[in-house]
Amino acid sequence: MKKIGVLGAGQLGRMLALAGYPLGHRFRFFDSASDSPAGLLADHWAFDYADTSALEKFAQGLDVVTYEFENVPVETVRHLEKFVPVYPSAIALEKAQDRFVEKSFFRELGIPTAKFSNGLRSGQTDGIGFPAVLKTRRMGYDGKGQVVINSEADLDNGLPLAKRISGYETDDLILEEFIKFERELSIIAVRNKSREMKFYPLIENHHRDGILRLSIAGGDVSAELQKQAEEYARAVMNALDYVGVLTIEFFEKDGRLLANEMAPRVHNSGHWTIEGSITSQFENHVRAVSDAPLGSTNPLGVCGMVNLVGNLPDVEFILKIEGAHLHLYDKAPRAKRKIGHITFVEKDMQSLQKKIEQVKEVYELF
Ligand code: AMP
Repeated sequence: MKKIGVLGAGQLGRMLALAGYPLGHRFRFFDSASDSPAGLLADHWAFDYADTSALEKFAQGLDVVTYEFENVPVETVRHLEKFVPVYPSAIALEKAQDRFVEKSFFRELGIPTAKFSNGLRSGQTDGIGFPAVLKTRRMGYDGKGQVVINSEADLDNGLPLAKRISGYETDDLILEEFIKFERELSIIAVRNKSREMKFYPLIENHHRDGILRLSIAGGDVSAELQKQAEEYARAVMNALDYVGVLTIEFFEKDGRLLANEMAPRVHNSGHWTIEGSITSQFENHVRAVSDAPLGSTNPLGVCGMVNLVGNLPDVEFILKIEGAHLHLYDKAPRAKRKIGHITFVEKDMQSLQKKIEQVKEVYELF
């Protein structure tokens, strides 16, 4: 079986290893941070991502390298690629790390997005109108690095504001049309080296303060919407000759999907697949990067995932809820930090809602 290196040693890496061990694989992690949820399961190499000699040693004896977060420097991946195959390839990272490049890429592929513009100048909105959202092109996540703009005066104030938040120049910002969406949905797709592709059902995502709190899969999604999402994911994966799990986040507006962003990795909105699908997103990612056939993405019920953010609920209470699958990431509680999640796999939406109500008795979700 394969020796797999993972860049990033957070909870996603941990869940990758947990899925890969039954298949006989070995893991090794590389993460500049010293504390690591994955470190309990495998060697953790704590070096800077720019440390080329550490990267070369890390690559020795590995069959393949993958990553679990999309802000891995592209140069790190390009350097590793000289010694060991890395999936998804650096080009996928390049597209996903910059919101302007990413949205332009969607546009080239005919995938609808909100209107957007970069290189903003005082008082100019390039026909985007108000309200609009001003974002940093790079490094924003969980709602960080963005402000809503309601007027030209706001925009004039917003440019220096965003610069202050991020230290970026205005050319490093993107202005987007504000979408009054009905729902936020994501699709998790996977493709292997033999170009086999599979798709999980669309997931409905609910955020608070820009952070994912609740995901529901197997709910009220039309076959047409599912087909649309799969077509978009297929187009992205084929264009990049993609290998691994890919996630695309959408806004649903008037029955259409607008792509907001993509992540070249396993995703928080797919954690329910561990218990709720025949093959989890983590196992399918491991299968894809290790050149194996993909597993079925069929769901086993109506699934819900509650994120534990900042603090833990009464663990005993949660464990007493029938069907609760509790995952703790071995991370110290801290504001806005994802430290665990709970998954339910139920026969219908009504039963799922009941379980979520039970969680709400001891945990503030929204
Ligand atoms: P992002 O960092 O792009 O994922 O944005 C974080 C969250 O901000 C999204 O999940 C949406 O809830 C909201 N958001 C981002 N862009 C827009 C937009 N153009 N219109 C409306 N809401 C947005």
